[in-house]
This record gives sequence, C-alpha cells and structure tokens, in this order.
Amino acid sequence: MELVCPICNGMAIYLLKCSNCGKVMENRGTIGEFLDDYSPYLAMDITQQIDGVPYDQCVHLFYCKNCDHDKRVPIKKMRI
Ligand SMILES: [Zn+2]
Ligand SMILES: [Zn+2]
Repeated sequence: MELVCPICNGMAIYLLKCSNCGKVMENRGTIGEFLDDYSPYLAMDITQQIDGVPYDQCVHLFYCKNCDHDKRVPIKKMRI
C-alpha cells in the first residue's frame, strides 16, 4: 500500500470557501510545487515551516482571486 494525496492524484476535488469573502478558492497545488517559482531564500523558509507536517499529509495552497487571500490546507493522504 502507498500513501497518496487524493487531490494530487485527481481522485478528489477539494472546494474551499474563502474565510474573508466566501468565494470558492483556487487550488494552486502543493507547497512543494509552489517552491519552484520562488527564490531559494524564500523556499528555505517555507521548507522549514513544513518540516512539521506529518508524512501522511500533503499541504496544498489555496488562493482566493476575489480578495487576494491565501491559505495552506493539509490534506490527509489515502492508502491505495
Ligand atoms: Zn496533494
Ligand atoms: Zn476571498
């Protein structure tokens, strides 16, 4: 058995409403993918912060286009 994130594998769609404005937030992918777009300095900071994430969780970044609010959401991985 393997632990996989249902969202990364297209098995589930997570709809998250923005806590500011109530619009549906966009899934911007995992924190890991997100790091590629940023400078090494920022990447290091984020990596340190997510070190505490349990191995069975995949942290996704959700973004609200309406009010420019973002949120990290830990998604529980499933066994397949
Ligand atoms: Zn994922
Ligand atoms: Zn919003």
